Formats: sequence, structure tokens, C-alpha cells
Amino acid sequence: MQNTVENMSKALKDNFEAVQEQIKCAEEEAGREEGAAQLIAVSKTYDAISIEPVIEAGQRIFGENRVQEAQGKWPELREKYSNIELHLIGPLQSNKSADAVALFDVIHTVDREKIAKTLSQEMEKQGRHLPCFVQVNTGEELQKAGIAPSDAVVFVKKCQTEYGLNIVGLMCIPPVDENPGPHFALLRDLAKQLELEQLSQGMSGDYKTAILMGATHVRVGSAIFGARD
Ligand SMILES: *Cc1c(COP(=O)(O)O)cnc(C)c1O
Repeated sequence: MQNTVENMSKALKDNFEAVQEQIKCAEEEAGREEGAAQLIAVSKTYDAISIEPVIEAGQRIFGENRVQEAQGKWPELREKYSNIELHLIGPLQSNKSADAVALFDVIHTVDREKIAKTLSQEMEKQGRHLPCFVQVNTGEELQKAGIAPSDAVVFVKKCQTEYGLNIVGLMCIPPVDENPGPHFALLRDLAKQLELEQLSQGMSGDYKTAILMGATHVRVGSAIFGARD
């Protein structure tokens, strides 16, 4: 048993270090500074036994896609390790806004007016003014969350002026069956138009491309933790 746990920890640490190395290479290839693209280790579906080796290897920024799942594991991990930064990367339901604002440090998925409104109210109430990304549905997929590209500019401005949200950037998840490059380029152009500095784009399969196209945050899960069920 002990041996199995040790082997697993070693594999996780190796995966994590390989991803860090790839990020560094991509930054270099893009002519960007080292550290220009932050790694968000996406720990959804994995529990403490898998997460702790990655924290111990030095990672502090983690992403989760469900509020309730994150509430079940992160408070305890935060007591044990300092400086953990938690990013919500999954769709938010308005009745979970209070919990999300209390638990997370950054929200990547502001995708409709109702959420902008409830987040704004909760942030005011809790005195926690979190950095937020607006999710853009770059592939205009029906089943996917996010604002249509043609509505993004108006929506971001509304989040800023009407709801007082601190919008730091844009986020996208390109369609699985398409070349992600044009989607990352579209997101980058929209962000530039809005004078937003940050781009949350790139997952295990395409984070190198995303960094070449300006990602400031890559969200990498399976390349570190392994395939999910
Ligand atoms: C799960 C998830 C990721 C990580 O995906 P991998 O392919 O495992 O790296 C990134 N972003 C979002 C929004 C996710 O839900």
C-alpha cells in the first residue's frame, strides 16, 4: 500500500514537472517571459491523495469546475497548505454564487447577465471583489456556456459599468473537434479590443498552442492528474 502511494506521488510529480517544462518551452518559443502563462492545475474529480503531491511539488493554483465538489475538499487542504489560489472554471448556477464567492479566488465563467448580477451582489455582501473572466463561446456551440463572440464587447462593458465586476480577461473552451488556434486568436482579438490583459485558454491537449497565442492562464487537468473516468 505504502509503495503504491509513493509510486503514485512520484508519477504525479513527474507529470507536473513535465507540464511545467512544456510551458517554459512554449513561452520561450513565443518570445514571452518565463512565467507569462500561469498554470492552473485542474483537480476536478481527484481528491486529496492525488492533489497533495502536486502541492508538495510546488503548485499553488488549482482549478475546479463544481462548487460543491470544491467545498468538499479544499477547506481542509487550505488549512494544511498556505497560499492556495482556487479558480472556478466551470459553469456557475446563480444559487451557488454565495458559496462560490466565499470559496474561490478567481471566477473564469461569467457567462450571462444573471450570473454577473448575483456575483456582483455577493461580492458586495462579502466584501470580496474577485477578479473575473468572461467566458466566450468562440465556437458558438449550442450545448456550451459562454457569451457569443458578437455579444462579448457589450456584455463585458455591462459587467464593468452596471455590475462593477473586476473583469480581468476572457476565457474560452474551443470545440473538441476543431483546430483550437483560430479560437484562441479570436479570444485574443476580442480581449485586445476590450483592453483586457488576461486570457484563460488552453487545456491538456492544446496548452502549448494557447501559450503561443497569448494565454496568460492555461487550465491543465489530465496531463497532470491522469485521465478522468
Ligand atoms: C476539465 C477542464 C479543463 C482541463 O481539461 P484537461 O483536458 O483535463 O486538461 C480545463 N478547462 C475546463 C473548463 C475544464 O472543465
